[in-house]
Amino acid sequence: MGIELGGRVYTGHAMSCIFCKIAAGEIPSTAVYQDELSYAFADISPKSPVHVLIVPREHIASLDEADKDKRALLGHLLWVAAEIARQKGLTKGYRVVVNTGEHGGQTVDHLHLHLLGGRMHTWPPG
Ligand code: AMP
Ligand code: ZN
Repeated sequence: MGIELGGRVYTGHAMSCIFCKIAAGEIPSTAVYQDELSYAFADISPKSPVHVLIVPREHIASLDEADKDKRALLGHLLWVAAEIARQKGLTKGYRVVVNTGEHGGQTVDHLHLHLLGGRMHTWPPG
C-alpha cells in the first residue's frame, strides 16, 4: 500500500514524515548536498548565516533510534557536515548539533544534523 504522487509511489514513513518527503523531493527545499545515503538542505528558519540540515534518506526517528548497524551511516552524516562546511568556507569553525528527544528540543522526528556557521556560537547553548 502506498500513495502515488507525480508518478512516484510513496510508502511507509515517506507518506507522513516531512523530512522523508523533502529527501524524496515531494516537498520543495533548497538542496545543499546529496548522495545515495543522505540529503542536505537549507533550514527554513535559519538560526545562523549558514544553517543546513543533513538527513539520512532512510527514515530513522532520532539518534536514540539508530541501531548498531547504522554506525557507518552516522559517521557518513558527520563527514557530510564537515564536507559542506569546507564547501561553504567555514574556516573559522562551525557547530554540528543533533537535538534528540524532548529534552534535546527535537521537533521533527527524522534524524537530522544541524550545521551552523558564519557567526560566533556561545557555550553552553540554551
Ligand atoms: P529540531 O528542532 O532539531 O527537530 O529541528 C527541526 C528543524 O527543521 C528546525 O530548525 C526547522 O526550522 C526545520 N524545518 C522544519 N520544516 C522545514 C522545512 N520544510 N524545510 C526546511 N527546514 C525545516
Ligand atoms: Zn522520515
